[in-house]
This record gives sequence, structure tokens and C-alpha cells, in this order.
Amino acid sequence: MNYINGELIEPRAKSFLENINPAEGKPYSLVPDSDAEDIQLATEAAQRAFDGWSAMPVEKRSATLQKIADLIDRDLDQLALAESTDQGKPVKLAKAVDIPRASANMRFFATGAIHFASEAHITGHEAINYTTHTPVGVVGCISPWNLPLYLFTWKIAPALAAGCTVVAKPSELTPMTAFLFSKLCIEAGLPKGVLNIVHGVGPKAGQAIVEHPDIVAISFTGGTVTGKKIATTAAPMFKKLSLELGGKNPNIVFADCDFEQALHTSIQSSFSNQGEICLCGSRIFVERTIYDRFVKEFVSRTAKLTVGDPHDEQTKIGALVSEAHMHKVLSYVELARQEGGKVLTGGRQVKIDGRCTNGYFVEPTVITGLGHMCRTNQEEIFGPVVTIMPFDTEDEVINYANSTGYGLSATIWTENLKRAHRVAAQLKSGIIWVNCWLFRDLRTPFGGMKQSGVGREGGWEALRFFTEAKNVCIKI
Ligand code: NAD
Repeated sequence: MNYINGELIEPRAKSFLENINPAEGKPYSLVPDSDAEDIQLATEAAQRAFDGWSAMPVEKRSATLQKIADLIDRDLDQLALAESTDQGKPVKLAKAVDIPRASANMRFFATGAIHFASEAHITGHEAINYTTHTPVGVVGCISPWNLPLYLFTWKIAPALAAGCTVVAKPSELTPMTAFLFSKLCIEAGLPKGVLNIVHGVGPKAGQAIVEHPDIVAISFTGGTVTGKKIATTAAPMFKKLSLELGGKNPNIVFADCDFEQALHTSIQSSFSNQGEICLCGSRIFVERTIYDRFVKEFVSRTAKLTVGDPHDEQTKIGALVSEAHMHKVLSYVELARQEGGKVLTGGRQVKIDGRCTNGYFVEPTVITGLGHMCRTNQEEIFGPVVTIMPFDTEDEVINYANSTGYGLSATIWTENLKRAHRVAAQLKSGIIWVNCWLFRDLRTPFGGMKQSGVGREGGWEALRFFTEAKNVCIKI
């Protein structure tokens, strides 16, 4: 059901899509196949709600959003199960990471908005300038399938906290947590029309959000090709745009690293969430003097990762999100072979006994023997597939790391502080992790360089994005 004007309603055309459980390879619910008419209804509701929500004292807005966070915490188990059933990830992971982060997103922006300050600038003895930030209006938030509720809330929380009203669309592949979230919004007493969640496919419901003349800003997370299409539509309409797109992130391991820590975390940064995290380090560069040892250990530990039923506590690698995506990932393994790569472990579909026999499981895969410019090392695969390549010098590895069109994140493993700073400064990525991965302080700006995105989310940047700055200059 869509959540429009505070109510759960069917799409106007009564058209639905099947929602597939990827671990079982069969449908388990229906999802509205909404169209421009549903987006129109949602936008009208958001417009009606805007004056009341934007004028509401920020403490009251904040309290409602924090109530929603409390309800997410209360329903942790149910939401984690839904996230796993939609997306294929281990329930344990959804419970430990995705859902707690969704509630943290709500809480972070709800409290952040209270502290969001206006600025004043004294210009010599001549003038005082003050700058206010007012909510921009009705905004569109469009999110992907890989971290469903986590990324959905990452977009809508700052928008709502800033005082905007929202028309949001989760991925059609993973709609269930957003549906459950809409019920929590009703229970928390979110005024009707403040948030409207419309389900459906990108080219229809998503495109209608982007095209709607009364939706003045678009916050999008998804693939680079989709981002380009959205920019083509929204930019000539002078909409504010935040695009968080794909990645092909380098993971650089210098010989002077803490070997065990680098190895352990590199396994996580390669295969967490089946490698379906935009921040996964899919290209591992290892200094030649430790290359053989690293590859041997990495392959041996990868081969031991349990691929299996997402309900099973022991499972490390669940199902890929869809059959089409599984075939895409496997086609890249084939491409790697054609390009001269050697598959050291993995590379095949896995058949699981029991309820998951028709699921979309792929072995974690390690490939060596490829150059940094081949397609396997240039294109985003977004699955449990990594390549490992040797390097000799710092300059050489910086060149390899920066050689793709993407620039989302990078990881550096070294115990040499000067080297860490030197290399970090030269990498063209929005986030650099040194001796860690996926460590996030929500106050820091988040986003990619080059084709990984435009704009920054997180902290004040996100709250600012959903506001319009106005400066008043007074001559004194
Ligand atoms: P996608 O681009 O196919 O879809 C993302 C969302 O956009 C979905 O809700 C989809 O329905 C919608 N959409 C598709 N076409 C649209 C259109 N023409 N107009 C409006 N909306 C449209 O991406 P995906 O396959 O769901 O997600 C995987 C991609 O997301 C990967 O490339 C990954 O790297 C990227 N991603 C980036 C980040 C980040 O923060 N940079 C985070 C997570 C995922």
C-alpha cells in the first residue's frame, strides 16, 4: 500500500508488481505499481502539509521524529526480518547494522535540527549580514535496494527535520521496510501529508517525482546511469539535486600495515551484504612484498565464508537481490576470465538445500591476474567479487586507485602516519578510511567525487540541502 496523506491506500490504477524473496526465488507479497497520478496525489498532500510542518516549532518536529526512532527500535526484529526477506541479506546483519542505523538516522537529524543555527557576519563597521535557512518546500527522495531502510531514512530524516514535506519512493525490489515504516509514522502521529511513500518502478513512479514541477529538490541514491537520467530531467527545471551514485572503491594495503587487521577488515569490506554496499572495496591493491602471503590468506578465509539461508545465524553471505542481478554478477566473472583473470576461489552460483533451493546465491569470488584498466576493474559489479593486484610504489598505486570514473570511497592500510596523510590527500574519493572501513560519524559530509555523485549528505550538509539560504544585509 502507498502511504499518502496519512493513509495507507492502493495505487489509483489498482496495479501491482510481485515482490520476490530472493533467498527463495519466489514472490511473497505485492507492491503497488504506482504512476504519475499517485505521485500527483502525494505531491498535493505534501503541499497542503507544508505550511503547518515547516512552521511547527522545531522541538515538536524533532519529538515526532524521535518517536518514530523509538518505534523502529521497538520493532527491530520485525524490521530486520523484513529487510532480509526483501533483500537477501543475513537477518543477523540487518539486526546489527541496517535497522539500528535507520533509527540512528532519524534521531541524528531530529536532534541536529534543534541545533541548526543561522549565521551573522559583521562587515567591518559598515554592515551586519544575517543568513537564514528556510525549508525549501516539497522534496523528492528516491532510494535503492541494497540498504533499504537505512538509506531511505538517511534521505527522508534530514528533509523532515529541516521542515520540508516529502514524496519518497523506495526501490521496487525492497519495499517492505518502507511500508512498515509508514505504519510507524501513523502510530507516531506524524501529521498527514508530511511524508508520502509511493511505491513503484523507477521509469514510472520515480520519473514522475523527478518531473513534477512542484517538487523542488531531489535527493537520489542509486546507480550512476540512473543518476545521469535524473540530472537530465531535473537540472533544466533548476531543481536542487543531491546524487549519491555508484563506486569502484580501492582498498590499498601497504607492506607496513597491521597485516591481520588489514586482512580481517578487507574480507568484510569485500563481502559484507554480499558485496552489495556502494562503499565495498572491490579492487584490492597489495604491495608486492606481501602480495603472495596476503592473497593466500585472503583466499583461504574467503573460501570458508558460509553462503546460506539468511535466517541462519552462521550465514555470512546471503542471497543477491534478484535473479537479474545474480546473472549480472556472474557475467562479470565470465568477463574477468575472458580478460585473462584467474578465479582463485568462488565464481559460481550456489545451490542451497531446503527452503532456499531456488534462491540467488553466489560464492564469494577472488580474482587475480588482471590489469587495472580492464572492464572488470573499471565497472561496478556490486556483488561478492573482488580483484587483487600487486603494486610496487606509492605513486603507482595512487594512479591505479584513481584510474576509474568513480570516486566514492577508498581504504588505506599502513602504520606510517605520514604516508597515510600523503596518500589520502591524493586519492580522488569522497571518503578515505585509514586502517578501518565503514566507520561513520554522521556529522561528517558523505558523498562521492567524479561519477560517484554530486552534493554531500550527512551532518549540516544534509540539513542545508533541504533549506534555502537567504541573506539580509543591514547598513549600520
Ligand atoms: P537504481 O539506480 O537502479 O535505482 C535506484 C532508485 O531509483 C530505485 O528506487 C529506482 O526505482 C529508482 N529509479 C530508477 N530509474 C529511475 C528514473 N528514471 N527516475 C527516477 N527514479 C528512478 O539503483 P539500484 O540498482 O537500486 O542500486 C544500486 C546502485 O546504487 C549501485 O550503483 C550502488 O553503488 C548505488 N548506491 C550508492 C550509494 C551512495 O551512497 N553513493 C549507496 C547505495 C547504493
